[in-house]
Amino acid sequence: MRFRSTRGATPHVDLRTALLSGLAPDGGLYLPEAVPHLPPLTDAHPAEADIPAIATAVLAPFCDEAISPATLQTIVRETFDFPIPLVRVDERVAVLELFHGPTLAFKDVGARFLARMLAATRDPHTPLVVLTATSGDTGGAVAAAFRGVEGVHAVVLYPAGRVSPLQERQITTVGGNVHAVSIDGSFDDCQRIVKQAFTDRELSRHVRLTSANSINIGRLLPQMVYYVAALRGIESGRHRVTVSVPSGNLGNLTAGLLARLSGLPVHHFVAATNVNAAFGAYLASGERWDRPAVRTSSSAMDVADPSNLERILTLYPDRKAVRAAVRAYAVSDDDTHACMARTAADTGYVLDPHSAVGMYALRRDMRQDPADVGIVLATAHPAKFPDIVERVVGRRVPEPEALAALRTQPVRSTHLEGSESALRAFVLDVAHT
Ligand SMILES: *Cc1c(COP(=O)(O)O)cnc(C)c1O
Repeated sequence: MRFRSTRGATPHVDLRTALLSGLAPDGGLYLPEAVPHLPPLTDAHPAEADIPAIATAVLAPFCDEAISPATLQTIVRETFDFPIPLVRVDERVAVLELFHGPTLAFKDVGARFLARMLAATRDPHTPLVVLTATSGDTGGAVAAAFRGVEGVHAVVLYPAGRVSPLQERQITTVGGNVHAVSIDGSFDDCQRIVKQAFTDRELSRHVRLTSANSINIGRLLPQMVYYVAALRGIESGRHRVTVSVPSGNLGNLTAGLLARLSGLPVHHFVAATNVNAAFGAYLASGERWDRPAVRTSSSAMDVADPSNLERILTLYPDRKAVRAAVRAYAVSDDDTHACMARTAADTGYVLDPHSAVGMYALRRDMRQDPADVGIVLATAHPAKFPDIVERVVGRRVPEPEALAALRTQPVRSTHLEGSESALRAFVLDVAHT
């Protein structure tokens, strides 16, 4: 498989090049040149049980000589070494729990896969710096995934004071080859500086720079896997299925759309955003959202300028085609909290704020147009947001061991002003020590 840029102004590349560059030279994002048909899974692999087997089948068409079938198999077994259960909350709604990885959020899947793919394909003679902007959860997932990966430095930029204390600990306690950097400004500022770094000639002369944000196609491809596994878990052949995706940068949704374009029988997706509703505004009017990001309870989705919108627009011929595949809902914090409280009271199921945005949007969508079955992607464990969850649900959330352990570890972080030149100096310093 070869990969093309969304902007179409550079040659198509192999997977290794796409992984190691992050952004295409023309500033676009890589997408597979063609979307392969999903392999027939029905007989060989029973239901959702064997996710690594499904992953190997789904991902093999995207890999080329750089990744042998045996290497791919090892990488997916290491990536998907935790359960992804589909939990029914009532007759028609189920939650796909994507939060059983090491940092308790779905981003573990993409980060773990990408880290292993980079380790397998990097040039052993050049220092590789993986630059990542985070609104919270990506940073922790990337830090954990790259811990101790030889020859790779991970630099994680996060907006000072705008990630939860726990998320900050996940980013700043790894140390070693993982460098935490706090920036004055918002997530969008972090993302902008990172994007500028990729077009920085001075930097590219000295280091190989790539990204572990969802601009890197290596983050998105493995996320197709759990959509496939989930639909197998509910015999989608006999039901009309809607999947609700709590969305910020739209990476998770893009992976779902790739799976649907490959033939996965999802009737439509619900793009569930908080009030940072760039995608909904675009679908409704075709207009760009030029407001700054607003802070909400679902902070990992506080994104005003979602980078994967560009991919979605490239995958579909026009806005009407996108609207046939996705319906967008913008959910206020009040509605999110009410949904968390109601879900806990009615079903006993405790959602984190991001997953609750997804649940609220799905319920609204099903009221309008009853699907047979709705699946909400639960993108984070409720214990990652204990203050909000306990206040709203009125119940203590037990703290998983992985989080408790973070409290005793030393924190290491560098504060930089939010400028491209400050980041350049920092990256050069890191790469050459
Ligand atoms: C990152 C994140 C999202 C949004 O995912 P995108 O792929 O950026 O749309 C949703 N929920 C949680 C918990 C996240 O960490």
